[in-house]
Amino acid sequence: MSFTKVSELYACDVFHLSKMKEYLTQDTFDALSNTIENGETISTWIADSVATAMKSWAIEKQATHYTHWFQPLTGATAEKHDAFFTPLEQGKAIERFDGRQLIQQEPDASSFPNGGIRNTFEARGYTAWDPSSPAFIYDGTLCIPTIFISYTGEALDYKTPLLKSIAILDKAAVGVCNYFDTITNKVIATLGWEQEFFVIDANKYKQRPDLQVCKRTLFGRSAEKGQVLEDHYFGSIPMRVKVFMKELETAAWKLGIPVKTRHNEVAPNQFEIAPVFEEVNIAIDHNQLLMDIMQQIADKHNLKVLLHEKPFTGVNGSGKHNNWSLATNTGKNLLSPGKTPQNNLQFLTFFVNVIKAVHTYADVLRASIASAGNDHRLGANEAPPAIVSVFIGSYLTKVLETIELQIKDRKMNADTIKAIELNISKIPAIILDNTDRNRTSPFAFTGNKFEFRAVGSSANCASAMITLNSMMAKQLLAFQEEVNTYIKKKKLSTEEAIFKVLKTYIASSKSILFEGNGYGDEWVVEAEKRGLSNFKNTIEALTHSQEITKELFTSLQIFSDREVDARYEIAVENFCNTIEIEAKMLIEIVYNQIIPATVYYQKDLAKSILRTETILGKDIKTPLRNILEIIVQQQNNLQQQIIVLQNILDKPHTNLEKTAKEYATTVRDHFVLLRDAIDTLELYIPAALWKYPKYRDLLDLSQPN
Ligand code: ADP
Ligand code: MG
Repeated sequence: MSFTKVSELYACDVFHLSKMKEYLTQDTFDALSNTIENGETISTWIADSVATAMKSWAIEKQATHYTHWFQPLTGATAEKHDAFFTPLEQGKAIERFDGRQLIQQEPDASSFPNGGIRNTFEARGYTAWDPSSPAFIYDGTLCIPTIFISYTGEALDYKTPLLKSIAILDKAAVGVCNYFDTITNKVIATLGWEQEFFVIDANKYKQRPDLQVCKRTLFGRSAEKGQVLEDHYFGSIPMRVKVFMKELETAAWKLGIPVKTRHNEVAPNQFEIAPVFEEVNIAIDHNQLLMDIMQQIADKHNLKVLLHEKPFTGVNGSGKHNNWSLATNTGKNLLSPGKTPQNNLQFLTFFVNVIKAVHTYADVLRASIASAGNDHRLGANEAPPAIVSVFIGSYLTKVLETIELQIKDRKMNADTIKAIELNISKIPAIILDNTDRNRTSPFAFTGNKFEFRAVGSSANCASAMITLNSMMAKQLLAFQEEVNTYIKKKKLSTEEAIFKVLKTYIASSKSILFEGNGYGDEWVVEAEKRGLSNFKNTIEALTHSQEITKELFTSLQIFSDREVDARYEIAVENFCNTIEIEAKMLIEIVYNQIIPATVYYQKDLAKSILRTETILGKDIKTPLRNILEIIVQQQNNLQQQIIVLQNILDKPHTNLEKTAKEYATTVRDHFVLLRDAIDTLELYIPAALWKYPKYRDLLDLSQPN
């Protein structure tokens, strides 16, 4: 087989600007680049030219169909394929694709979540081209990234608000940069995600209806954890997975997804794939795309990818660290300490503003990563707790303390500034050694970026990124107002004004900084003392943050009131649906499989006990009695739990919020009790009667299927 260098196949299926250049006239290309750069509306003639170019390129690459590719609030991606080909008369046909088809489409949108925005009678939404994310070809289809909005203009997807948050953040951050220079005219947010996932054998997956329907196991003894987690599962990636990963990587590279690393994670059969960071809109498209293609490629290898946050109880779950920073058109990373005190003041300005933003909007940030799946992971001693806090390392903690103290003690003057500058000028040398990786923090500064670690593995990163971008934008706008007031009213120099405002921020947002062990119980107590929120489940996180969420997003015009309400409703509905499906699945599994298996064995046991006693006399106590008792007891437990669950499910659910609260607490408690009963039975019921692959089998990829 011939060898192709990665650099040769990289992005070969992407219609990048550089490729567009080959297909467009210089004038059209310049006009398009301008439009993209400035986020302007596309004119018809540009759209037509680009469509023609795209079509030629796609057909040369043997694509037969095109689709608008979008991200509805289901969390997945959606598309509706159309053929380029159009039949003409007399058995003739042509390939057709014009500007109109490129710019706008009307998918049958009635089945996507809309939180009451679209009544079914006006179930029309449309998708519109996002020229800032390049089109690509996958599986013979030209995919055009688009936004998805209702006919009345409300966003029905993740991309629309994301693009708005990017634009506002750009404006706000450029304003702040211009205190330091006059050449910065664009700031982008950057994102590098680290995707964790499990891979299991497809045949075993098919024997677990809970995995198939709920994406997680609802039962399974994990008491043998010690054994399951034996060393031999670690280290080397099983051959089958290696072959799969190689194919996945190649597919990703062709699509221009710059994936770089792969390694085993802490749990058996858990892996991670991470790219080089990119502009946030593109990074999110790439993550969504990767999640799609990894399933498709896994299918070919008779494997299944599990993206759920907690597929196995007692085994580490999966997350998706979101590394986030800000970069300027001049090539500067705004969260990277510079070489001079002047640069460091700029770094500190952005750094402190992030902390302040997280302090103010911690609840919104918490809500942005809330999902039924993530509830199982947060705070479970394997992932950051549900309490939002920021880790910055000991050196920067000292720097902030110094600034606060020096400004408190002395009047602001040239000497104060010099003293502080002297102090902060040392940052670059020391920082790399000092931002030790506190793995237990949900939001950690890691040298030149913040790492938001509470994002769930199956989530669309956009939810977290829209929030982070927006709160930062809002914060930077407020910062400018305060600095400008000091400059105008108090006649301070820009530098003095900046220091003054930073100092007040440091003082007022201190409570969000935490350097200790985020997994410890002491932190829960301490956080409560500090007045930090600790929302243990999705519904708590959503309801308590509603007001501040609305304030943040409506003031920046990222969402209207109605859109915030709709999104809230969709999230609550999703949560309820998930729990309801799990409950129904559990009930079915218990009745269809668990009880029959126990009855079968119970019958055998009872017979054996009777016969033994007939032969040896009643005084002989056979140990089988114990097992029989345990089985009958667990049957009772099962029955009781199922009745309670069924009653809750059968109640009329008129108030969605009330239902969600009951599901998050009572229903989940019953899940745990049911699981205990099933897992106990798993130990006692003969393996031949136990239809379901056990954890040990599910987590074993070493054997051929
Ligand atoms: P880790 O030890 O967590 O693996 P790395 O330094 O390898 O940390 O980086 C993890 C992720 O952070 C990668 O996806 C990388 O691309 C991303 N990253 C690095 N710099 C930035 C940045 N400036 N903005 C956003 N993401 C970044
Ligand atoms: Mg990481």
